[in-house]
Amino acid sequence: MRLVLLGPPGAGKGTQAERLSQRHRIARLSTGDMLRAAVAAATPIGVKAKDIMERGELVPDPVVIAIIAERIQQPDAARGFVLDGFPRTVAQAEALERLLAQRGLKLDAVIELKVDERILLRRIETRVGETKARGEAVRADDDPEVLKQRLSAYRVQTAPLVDHYRAKSVLRSVDGMASIDEVSEVIGRLVARPAEIAGSRKAPKGRTKARGARRKVPKARRASHGKRKAASRGAKAKRVRRTAVRRRKSARVRR
Ligand code: ADP
Repeated sequence: MRLVLLGPPGAGKGTQAERLSQRHRIARLSTGDMLRAAVAAATPIGVKAKDIMERGELVPDPVVIAIIAERIQQPDAARGFVLDGFPRTVAQAEALERLLAQRGLKLDAVIELKVDERILLRRIETRVGETKARGEAVRADDDPEVLKQRLSAYRVQTAPLVDHYRAKSVLRSVDGMASIDEVSEVIGRLVARPAEIAGSRKAPKGRTKARGARRKVPKARRASHGKRKAASRGAKAKRVRRTAVRRRKSARVRR
């Protein structure tokens, strides 16, 4: 299973990616974590990325694409992976498609976590408080001013991916404002039905979701649905006849 989690900073991608990784025994690939590790180890990539990340801007595409190209070839990613924080630009998405196509693979789903931007700042503040309470170091970019820049980078460079993946029929949007467990449950249902995802991929253009879904109802159920409809038509006719009889009787009484 190969998934992408899409959403602004603070949307809950990391939490959901971790749960998906454990539930499906797939690798969680977070470019943010990888870059932070590179910064901490002062590798050549880390040195290059440090200031960019502290400003809340995006690290250049070739750098992150090279990291992911190498990472998805590791044995722990063979069963599948959930990408958290990548792709973040259309160029990264196209590079990912090429990397997968070279191996005859494609994405199963791109899950968009939809959140109200106004609450993101509050969520990040909570995260900072929790990190401090655990005695851990706070992320350099978890600062209100830098967060504004990260949100702007998301809006300008990453949000266009929503349309990009919608056009490819792999986009699944989830309400990221619900509780962590509710969001996990919805995502769980979405990824547990790859056949349906594949089916909707083939749905002809112009069809509404409802009509597409109706075509997937098993024949047996469709038949019984027909019978139920016929039965309810019969019941309605009976009701109409009974009312007519009642009306005739009361008319006679009045006369
Ligand atoms: P968040 O989603 O909370 O903003 P991440 O941990 O995913 O944070 O990323 C932190 C920073 O790492 C980003 O602001 C950016 O500078 C850099 N980064 C992570 N992933 C990418 C990427 N795919 N492309 C460019 N920069 C990235």
